[in-house]
Amino acid sequence: MASNAQQKISHHMDPEQFRKNGHAVVDWIADYYKRIETFPVLSQVAPGQIRRSLPATAPQQGEGFETILQDVGRLILPGITHWQSPNHFAFFPSNASGPAILGDLLSSGLGVQGMLWATSPACTELETLVLDWLVPALGLPEKFLSTCTGGGAIQDTASSATLCAILAARERATNYHSNRNGVSGTLCAYTSSQAHSSVEKAIQIAGIGRANLRFLEVNEKFEMKADALERAIEQDRSAGRKPFFVCATVGTTSSNAIDPVRQIGQICRKYGLWLHVDAAMSGTAALCPEFRHVHDGLEYADSYCFNPHKWMFTNFDCDCFYVADRKSLIQTLSVLPEYLRNKASESGAVIDYRDWQIPLGRRFRSLKLWFVLRHYGIEGLQFHIREHVRLAQEFASSVKQDSRFELAVSPPLNLVCFRLKSGDGSTRRLMDALNRSGDLYLTHTRLNDRLALRLCVGQTNTTERHVENAWKRIREEASKIE
Ligand code: PLP
Repeated sequence: MASNAQQKISHHMDPEQFRKNGHAVVDWIADYYKRIETFPVLSQVAPGQIRRSLPATAPQQGEGFETILQDVGRLILPGITHWQSPNHFAFFPSNASGPAILGDLLSSGLGVQGMLWATSPACTELETLVLDWLVPALGLPEKFLSTCTGGGAIQDTASSATLCAILAARERATNYHSNRNGVSGTLCAYTSSQAHSSVEKAIQIAGIGRANLRFLEVNEKFEMKADALERAIEQDRSAGRKPFFVCATVGTTSSNAIDPVRQIGQICRKYGLWLHVDAAMSGTAALCPEFRHVHDGLEYADSYCFNPHKWMFTNFDCDCFYVADRKSLIQTLSVLPEYLRNKASESGAVIDYRDWQIPLGRRFRSLKLWFVLRHYGIEGLQFHIREHVRLAQEFASSVKQDSRFELAVSPPLNLVCFRLKSGDGSTRRLMDALNRSGDLYLTHTRLNDRLALRLCVGQTNTTERHVENAWKRIREEASKIE
């Protein structure tokens, strides 16, 4: 038992102090959400301003919790870009919700490290269950179920999912020799010119070499051309190279284009290539039967991922990664030192998710996803997804009706790409003025070498009022520019 002297020297927060401070933090967050629309969406601070406002060295003595929390409001909030503002239309959303935040808090409280089934059976089994729940909910092929040949695991991000897919594809293509002997220079991979940069990064990390990644042509809707894929594979094969991997995108970052997964999949099947489908944001749309066509052809995929942390109200980080054949992934990523050996793993009756990802350690992320699914139910999620798509489509109609503007491409779902007809200069000035105003935040891309503004409707609390106001502000600023 600890002596009195030892008890006195503890600097820990005891459970009663934790309760009091915890309530204060929850109140702080609830108040933040109530007043979130009063802050400029894009932080307006200058580089270095936040750091300069804080002490240069760590405190020698501990400080009171109240002071620390006050400093969050006083010193940190000015440097926050409010991703959870309903006026945040930039990039793709990274949305949060009450149930997800509370699930994440519980995960922190439990402080579980779920690398092995044995290190917290509930962490593993809830994750397996929740990922299986999502298979019928999203209309994914049954082979992705843990009860079939495949299964899903939560990764931090889509970038990690793509890297795992490439590694497993690499090993399958080289009969698991690359892990042992290193990668030969003949492997080559394919994606479209519109794929996310994480594909290129993963190809680099996996030792394939950027020069061996082919960026394929797209059509007028920015979708990968399947015939260009087949031509590129044939060319590489005739040159003695070994095509092994294709990444198709469901909802590209620039314009939300949906690659023809079925056609791509048939080509992959013909030539024996691994097909990974990156549906980072747009996969969520498949919760609604009327948008499920985005998953057409997925039965050809070897792996698939989507991010509940983008558009399914589950705060960062949470990417759901599925494989059709879990053995190839596990054989690729498993390294077993003595200190991780245990009876449960050796029995073969459990999943050890450490073998499904790059790091060893892992958080209890399924808790927040479980909270989200139970709080909203599939119908609640469908309601909000439908609403976001409807609002984006209405915004697109307004753009079409204003002769000063044009759509850069017809929006498939909840991302609208548009521009001022008068050119890149005025389009950029418009974006800068809007973002400087703090009233909303949107970002840009280049499509067919012309600037386009991207307005993505996907923040948890965005409603009709916010989208209408965004359009009003866009028109006002456009009038000042033109
Ligand atoms: N794939 C697509 C299509 C994306 O749009 C993004 C990010 O916006 C990513 C992958 C990378 O996402 P993450 O941050 O989860 O790695």
